[in-house]
Amino acid sequence: MPKTPKARGSIPSGPKRRDLLCGLSAGALITGFDPVGRRWITGSQVRAKVAAVPPLKGRLLFTDAALSAAADDFGHIVHNRPWAVLQPGDVNDIVVMLRFCNEHRILAAPRGQGHGTYGQAQVSGGLVIEMATLDTVTVCADWVEAEAGARWSSVLGATLPQGLTPPVLTDYIELSVGGTLSVGGVGGASPHYGAQVDNVLELEVVTGAGQRVVCSPTLAPDLFYAVLAGLGQCAILVRARLRLVPAPVNVRHYILYYPTADALTADQRLVQADGRFSFAEGEAELNPNGPGWLYYMEAAAYYDSTPPDDEALIGDLHFEPGTQQISDLGYYDFLDRLAPAVTFLESTGEWYDPHPWWNMFLPDSATDAFVSGVMAGLTEADIGASGVILLYPLRSDALRAPLLRVPGEPVVFLFSVLRTAAPDSGGALGAGAMLAANRALFEQGRALGGYEYPIGSIPMTTGDWREHFGPQWPFLAAARRRYDPGGILTPGQGIFKPGPA
Ligand SMILES: Cc1cc2nc3c(=O)[nH]c(=O)nc-3n(C[C@H](O)[C@H](O)[C@H](O)COP(=O)(O)OP(=O)(O)OC[C@H]3O[C@@H](n4cnc5c(N)ncnc54)[C@H](O)[C@@H]3O)c2cc1C
Repeated sequence: MPKTPKARGSIPSGPKRRDLLCGLSAGALITGFDPVGRRWITGSQVRAKVAAVPPLKGRLLFTDAALSAAADDFGHIVHNRPWAVLQPGDVNDIVVMLRFCNEHRILAAPRGQGHGTYGQAQVSGGLVIEMATLDTVTVCADWVEAEAGARWSSVLGATLPQGLTPPVLTDYIELSVGGTLSVGGVGGASPHYGAQVDNVLELEVVTGAGQRVVCSPTLAPDLFYAVLAGLGQCAILVRARLRLVPAPVNVRHYILYYPTADALTADQRLVQADGRFSFAEGEAELNPNGPGWLYYMEAAAYYDSTPPDDEALIGDLHFEPGTQQISDLGYYDFLDRLAPAVTFLESTGEWYDPHPWWNMFLPDSATDAFVSGVMAGLTEADIGASGVILLYPLRSDALRAPLLRVPGEPVVFLFSVLRTAAPDSGGALGAGAMLAANRALFEQGRALGGYEYPIGSIPMTTGDWREHFGPQWPFLAAARRRYDPGGILTPGQGIFKPGPA
């Protein structure tokens, strides 16, 4: 079922009555917070005893449009409305507003591009911090400094002219740096380079307590590793120093079809083991000529001027002969390959339909049986006409960030059932039924040693999260107590009870 808005009462009450203090935020909007009435006060309403909002370089918004937008995301399933939206003018705006929120027990969450699918960046009756206004990108020697609100497409816009690229990109590059680093960020290059979080050299964050801190593997490492794939529970990431590698000029792109999931995964294991491709993923699609599903490997070989040898790359693979599709394209066009599909789905409206997405990392040993079983029972109606099935392997030793939880076997598979629900449908095609199916699938996968990749829409309890983080739970809980002692950050993930531990 969709999450219901969290009650404000979950934050311990008892705010002090304050004398009238008026704050002036950019745009000359007089703003205060009434700690007794638990509401923001603006303009001529500032009569009662209110606490001033500190002066800001950016803007604090209370308009219906701003609050409604912050109460929505790519999932269009959860709608928790905040009281205010901050568009920070600089990092100090986040510092002072988080201190203000702590003082008045107001929950807060950073929002990147809002492409979570289950209210992860939402706050019922609190403050949403729209990171998109902090989007500066500066290329240095072989790294790039990116503010957290920058999109990966902008990062590439700065690095590619220097002949450099982040080693791992997500399939969709209009996501924010802060948004993907807070979940992990995996893609077809991950078998070589790990997740995006494994390619971060340094972070600048604002902790839940409102402290601005630089951290790295050697500088406050507990904070660094609590923020990477930390789902926004301890601090807001404001700047990341990201590793870069030489960018290729061209990409040879292969689509190879297989009749069964087992046949696909057998070849995926082979190409992952010898690392012959620069990039490799896999998908399933409905068989246009009969019942069931077809599977395909999507692989890429990067090159500058000399094209790769097709025979050497695919000659020993077991795809269905004659089904191979081979094309060449520029590196950026390859990274931006979803753009035409997104434009199409925007035109049909399906981009704006509910997206109850399901993602899990499965142990290699359980993958074939589990995937075959799931796919045997899955129809187009279960995922919607624009639904997507992803299936590809990763190397667990390349995934080093402690909070990105994956099975312990050397090879793990990402299996994703990315559903699109019929809008306003309470039936089998609706989001409610799909959420229930997601939960059931999650329980089956977890019983086999799988871990949710937490970007989707699976109703979770605190107990589920405790089990998810397993041996890392004490680390995360301690970091939360230390860096967000007021427990105000990112309640939409549903990991900790809001408020002081
Ligand atoms: C079309 C599409 C394709 C995708 N493809 C991939 C893929 O190939 N690989 C992959 O790994 N993922 C993929 N994802 C998932 C995506 O990486 C996550 O949903 C990601 O969190 C979205 O980034 P965002 O900027 O929209 O974040 P939001 O949805 O705005 O936020 C997500 C979470 O991160 C927190 N957060 C946001 N900014 C910060 C910050 N600065 N500091 C701390 N916490 C922050 C939010 O509070 C929230 O909890 C895809 C999603 C979509 C919609």
